[in-house]
Amino acid sequence: MPKIQNFKMYINGEWVDSSSGKKIQTLNPENNEVWATVPEANEKDVDKAVQSAQNAFENSWSILHPRDRAKYLRLIADQLRENAEHLGKIETIDTGKIYRETKTQANYIAEYYDYFAGLADKVEGTVVPIDKPDMQVTTTRIPIGVVAAIIPWNSQMLLTAVKLAPALAMGNTVVIKASELAPVTLLEFAKLIEKTGIPKGVINIITGLGEPCGKALTTHNLVERIAFTGGPETAKHIVKNSAENLSQVSLELGGKSPVVVFDDADQENALNGITAGIFGASGQSCIAGSRLYLQSNIYDEFLDKLITKAKKIKLGGPMEEDTQMGPLNSFKQLENIEKNIKSTTEQGGKIRCGGERSSVSNKGYYFPATIIECENHNLPVAENELFGPILSVMKFDNEEEVIKKMNDNKYGLSSGVYTSNFARGHRVSKAIRAGIVFINTYRLISPMAPFGGIKDSGYGKEAGIESIKEYTRIKTTWYNSSDKPISDPFTIG
Ligand code: NAD
Repeated sequence: MPKIQNFKMYINGEWVDSSSGKKIQTLNPENNEVWATVPEANEKDVDKAVQSAQNAFENSWSILHPRDRAKYLRLIADQLRENAEHLGKIETIDTGKIYRETKTQANYIAEYYDYFAGLADKVEGTVVPIDKPDMQVTTTRIPIGVVAAIIPWNSQMLLTAVKLAPALAMGNTVVIKASELAPVTLLEFAKLIEKTGIPKGVINIITGLGEPCGKALTTHNLVERIAFTGGPETAKHIVKNSAENLSQVSLELGGKSPVVVFDDADQENALNGITAGIFGASGQSCIAGSRLYLQSNIYDEFLDKLITKAKKIKLGGPMEEDTQMGPLNSFKQLENIEKNIKSTTEQGGKIRCGGERSSVSNKGYYFPATIIECENHNLPVAENELFGPILSVMKFDNEEEVIKKMNDNKYGLSSGVYTSNFARGHRVSKAIRAGIVFINTYRLISPMAPFGGIKDSGYGKEAGIESIKEYTRIKTTWYNSSDKPISDPFTIG
């Protein structure tokens, strides 16, 4: 059996164990074996990380010119490009996501740091057309302070970049808490950060459980901003925690994203987009297109083609080059999927392919591409976020009906529309209550494109030009240019 590797946290530029000496074991989803341990941070460790971030904020980072902060962001980007393969491997071992995707993503994430480096010295203030003679009023964008970034286990390099890069660019310092389900990638990333020579304490990366670690971080009185990505139940804790320190919160939560295929769609393109949307990353993506609505007159034909395609998907070891779907991240996830499928079939849902744990390995958490026909979208698999390769398929007759159906879910993160009719594509995309709409495509990201949801999928956009302002506050400054003293100190005006 390979030796278990022990990792340390990165606090104030030093590699440390938790003060209690406690550790978390992390499993390899491919074989259910412990492959690494990381420190289990407690309140004391969190306090140390936040204090060091506060110290760096006051004494080095916030007073550096934005152009100089940008230089460090570009160094992070360089490190990511140089080490994309290594990071990809670690992420694959820790999460089960296929190596083809993790290494490509680690490389692409460098673009986010370059993008925000470019923006760092372009955020300007204003001069207010003030209604008082002899006064000039300006607004400037100032950093907020210590940012707590709470990261889920999936797409962690991306979800870290969209928080860390704008936060640093604007002069904030950061404490990142990695997910206990796959904490190692971010600790490896910390090694790259160290190589850039960024001042100590500007970036701290800690590992721990939701409680006490995540709770201690999000209630800490020196934390001024919480950037959270994860599930909606955890988000409710985060919002309550933020009542303790009155920090500004952004939430990127789950989804149950609807996709519609009209009878005039380019079917081959739709088949590929749907496959990418729900079977890419084994469906473990917050924007997974997991509810599919097919127009009645193409329903049987299109569904048969989709089933044929899904059956051919190669499930296998995540490091293998020809693997298309790897294992799920945890056994708990697999059990949750099975529970939802069981209650759906008991209520009339029909499994058309997949539907049962795969025999590809009797150790890893493998689940095949699964398609389930549902007469209504209130069946459990069609209503709940499953975070797995499970597609629920429903029928519709006309545009008005499908818009209602697509909007009939508590989430509002992503959505997809397949049609060759431009006017219809435009109408439907406008009517869908979601933060993102893909028309005749799916599952794309970019540092330039804002990302985030509405309804129970959260609030606050990540990526894109506006998102950098989410890491600033406006300061208003009054300049008195009058030669005369203030006339009456007891009035306002
Ligand atoms: P999760 O909510 O279980 O955990 C997310 C993070 O919150 C972890 O680091 C965890 O330790 C921490 N946490 C848990 N309890 C906490 C508490 N009381 N206080 C502070 N922190 C606490 O999510 P997960 O299972 O790791 O990830 C899957 C979820 O994330 C899915 O719902 C998915 O849709 C969502 N997600 C959303 C996006 C997006 O951008 N919208 C992207 C990826 C994942």
